[in-house]
Amino acid sequence: MQFSDTHVHLQDFKTRFATDIVRAALEKGVDKLVCVSAAEKDWEKVAGLHELFPRNIIPAFGLHPWYVREASAGWEERLEACLRKYPRALVGETGLDRLHDGDEEPQGAAFSRQIDLARAYGRPLIIHAVRAQDWLEKYWKILPEKFVFHSFAASAELLAKVAAHGGYAGFSFSILRSRHKERVLKAVPPDRILLETDGPYQGPEKGREVEPSRLPELARELAEVRGLEFPGFAARVYQNSLEFLNIGK
Ligand SMILES: [Zn+2]
Repeated sequence: MQFSDTHVHLQDFKTRFATDIVRAALEKGVDKLVCVSAAEKDWEKVAGLHELFPRNIIPAFGLHPWYVREASAGWEERLEACLRKYPRALVGETGLDRLHDGDEEPQGAAFSRQIDLARAYGRPLIIHAVRAQDWLEKYWKILPEKFVFHSFAASAELLAKVAAHGGYAGFSFSILRSRHKERVLKAVPPDRILLETDGPYQGPEKGREVEPSRLPELARELAEVRGLEFPGFAARVYQNSLEFLNIGK
């Protein structure tokens, strides 16, 4: 069986070297890892990891809403240069986060700019959205062809919007703690599901780093909630990830 971890911050682990973490994941069949940046300082590290494992690590370059304020002038041009240099790279993570308040205007502007880049270069977009359902209204129509709401643990209503606009929901272990778990996992169309650990952050044990090698365990738990047979579910979500990442075209 093969698996994709569609959202992991390999550069952020404190307990082990990223190279060891990737090798452990490969041993479990996790052969595609989207290495996601949050701040501009991550871009070089993410590119370096991709170069070490060019067939397995797909880089994503972007500005997370928490780090918009610390980006230095000209970040848009430097982000664009990363996308030109790495033709398989995604844009992200970006998005809107009301918990991180006081900076709605710069967050919105940075999100718009990254949507424009994803569209201009035909890249999938990774979206982080927290308490932003109404704020998102003006963006649905301008989102690129491929986008994912990552670490999805929101309501079935938001899920319906994501699916209606052709997007994906990326599920991490956090969905298993969500009060929306049953409703969301039963409602999500099978071809809209992606899996991710959001490692090191969204693990099953609070405060402990989660590695991408645990992706198969997550897949098994989600198959069970949906009442599906594990191998078929795993094959379906792996296929989804290849389509999302434009692999095999
Ligand atoms: Zn993340």
